[in-house]
Amino acid sequence: MARRKIIKIDQSRCNGCGECITACLESAIELKDGKARVISDSFCDGLGACLAVCPEGALTIVERDAEVFDLQAAKEHQGRSKEEKSVVMVSPCTSPMTLHSHFNVL
Ligand code: SF4
Repeated sequence: MARRKIIKIDQSRCNGCGECITACLESAIELKDGKARVISDSFCDGLGACLAVCPEGALTIVERDAEVFDLQAAKEHQGRSKEEKSVVMVSPCTSPMTLHSHFNVL
């Protein structure tokens, strides 16, 4: 724990658009029940790259006691997330292929 800057999400303002998820380089934000939430304090670097993309002004940077930013843990989480998003597609005419590697859509 350390006193540091970290993202705060105003749940009452969040419309669930997901723009902050795309903007977050550490993949620290996810949607749960239609609202954005920080997955783990240790994934948020507190730099606020997500602030500018929020159409509702739901994101702010606050200073509070939080787990320290852990770049390695954030990268490992990103790796797991990408694996989960890599959808296997099977066509009756071709061998299995992944959307990620062939169409670069995920
Ligand atoms: S960008 Fe703003 S409104 Fe959209 S999901 Fe994130 S916090 Fe919610």
